[in-house]
Amino acid sequence: MRYSHLFTKTTKTVPADSDSVNARLLVQAGFVDQVMAGAYAWLPLGLRALRKVEGIVREEMNGLGGQELQLTALQPKENWLQSGRWDAVDVLFKIPSQTGKEYALGPTAEDVVTPLMKTFLRSYKDIPVAVYQIQTKFRDELRAKSGVLRGREFLMKDMYSFHVTREDFAQFYEKAKATYLRTFARCGMNARITESSGGAFTKKVSHEFQVETPAGEDALVICRGCDYAQNAEIATAKVGDACPKCGGVLEASKGIEVGNIFDLGDRFTNSFDLTVSGADGAKQVVFMGCYGIGITRLVGAIVEASHDDRGMIWPKSVAPFPVHMVMIGAKDPAVAERVRGAAEELERALSAAGCEPLFDDREDARAGEKFADADLIGLPIRLVISEKTLAENAVEWKDRKTGEQRMVPLAQAVEDVRVFMTA
Ligand code: ATP
Ligand code: MG
Repeated sequence: MRYSHLFTKTTKTVPADSDSVNARLLVQAGFVDQVMAGAYAWLPLGLRALRKVEGIVREEMNGLGGQELQLTALQPKENWLQSGRWDAVDVLFKIPSQTGKEYALGPTAEDVVTPLMKTFLRSYKDIPVAVYQIQTKFRDELRAKSGVLRGREFLMKDMYSFHVTREDFAQFYEKAKATYLRTFARCGMNARITESSGGAFTKKVSHEFQVETPAGEDALVICRGCDYAQNAEIATAKVGDACPKCGGVLEASKGIEVGNIFDLGDRFTNSFDLTVSGADGAKQVVFMGCYGIGITRLVGAIVEASHDDRGMIWPKSVAPFPVHMVMIGAKDPAVAERVRGAAEELERALSAAGCEPLFDDREDARAGEKFADADLIGLPIRLVISEKTLAENAVEWKDRKTGEQRMVPLAQAVEDVRVFMTA
């Protein structure tokens, strides 16, 4: 990707209404554009990061045995009436049609996935089964704030599992917990499993996955000595108390909820009369779980947890590109031509090795401007190629995270990038 070709531009201007680090940096770097409060357009660089996160989530859900599908975001009102939620969910967008009918714009999908499964699941032998989608969700949030962390339109992965015994459900739920922790770790994030309320869905405890950062909206009570954590909303222990698990001292913290998993029991299978026949031919209750990950929120959480005063610092696994190549022009046109030639050759070699760079090939921008952009965009490796580096047959390598800088022979650069990215 050539910088001169990219239609988005970075800006030094801090967006007037940016109330959070993620909104400011993502907008300034041209990753997203705020269309209105709570709704963001994802631009080429931002979309690449979003797709990387989505890819990791998809791999992990497939690994858990999930089957991907795509439900409709436009949902029948009748279903929401049948589950008793049409008037119970305050964030539900209700869409009137010119025909006089009304629809729901899906904030979640229990009300359409449960009847769907009813048409296919007949026998206990068809179960367990888990299905998921990665789809835009809509919620009429009273206050859309904190950039992409709380939108009225956002991308969510939602999985639904179906079981004939509580034991089978519990086993899957534990596997989902481990899968979630690995998913967030692969995105460069350390998430804590936090006990929380079951919300409007259930009276039971649910489990949230919280990324600790000062920007977090959720107040947590946590233990640093072990993995004990509770959302302050339901906490049975207070800050300063002894940890019920290890005896350490409980502390206050802040987190961003990037995922949430629920034991739904028969809440929805009962509403939609989803049962299967058991081994003895009798009707069996189906137990259900649901498992959400806020994909767009996770991208925002990554920015909140990984940045400095110069810009974003993308974890390798989710960076839009691995390398930010910066070409620095020379006064002598013949030298400038040689620098460009060497840079284009490196660009080709990196792309051929599966490490396509973002190549700042601009002739009309100063070096300082290019470096500031590279810091703001925050790709893992910056490679500078100039008259000076070319005299040594080398490029200057800088690690965005550690700041470490060294000269790398041109012939070695591709292999070093490959090794760095897969390490
Ligand atoms: P919150 O308490 O933050 O409002 P929630 O508990 O209502 O979220 P869930 O219904 O559990 O959210 O949705 C699953 C996941 O979707 C959440 O864990 C979160 O990561 C993400 N999510 C929920 N609401 C939003 C939103 N308005 N904008 C972006 N992501 C969201
Ligand atoms: Mg939640």
